[in-house]
Amino acid sequence: MAELKLNNDGFFFFTYKELTQSDTAVANKIGNIPNATEKLNLKCLVQNMLDPIRIAYGSAMNVSSGFRNEAINKLVGGSPTSNHRLGYAADVSSNSEQGAKAIYEIAKMFKNFDEVYLESRDVKDNTGKIVRVSWWVHIAYKNSGNRNKVGRLHNDKFI
Ligand SMILES: [Zn+2]
Repeated sequence: MAELKLNNDGFFFFTYKELTQSDTAVANKIGNIPNATEKLNLKCLVQNMLDPIRIAYGSAMNVSSGFRNEAINKLVGGSPTSNHRLGYAADVSSNSEQGAKAIYEIAKMFKNFDEVYLESRDVKDNTGKIVRVSWWVHIAYKNSGNRNKVGRLHNDKFI
């Protein structure tokens, strides 16, 4: 394995840019900039979960949603108490059901986290027909009070 190097954000594989990137923010011309506390929360999430999981997984992982400020969280229909709201959570995927399931199994082995959920959602065309299923893993870490919750959600509901 090639030697790992820290990037400018102090991480091996992730960046604040991808953890704060939001298509909703861009579409609505809203900035999505974490404050100092929220940024520290993102840092703890990467250092304790995302980077180590990525190293164990050994393949590319994409962040589809990380930090969401209040306006963006409302626009995407997120819960006001969502761990995404304060920078505690990120949704990661590897572009396949198999990849998401592998990441989920690895993440669950970490013994100190708040939430690790295997999630999927039906993606429909404009006639309402399901054309594919999107898969990701929701990973949340808090500096204290971690609950070690695991679970499986489909279309935002526990199954
Ligand atoms: Zn999530």
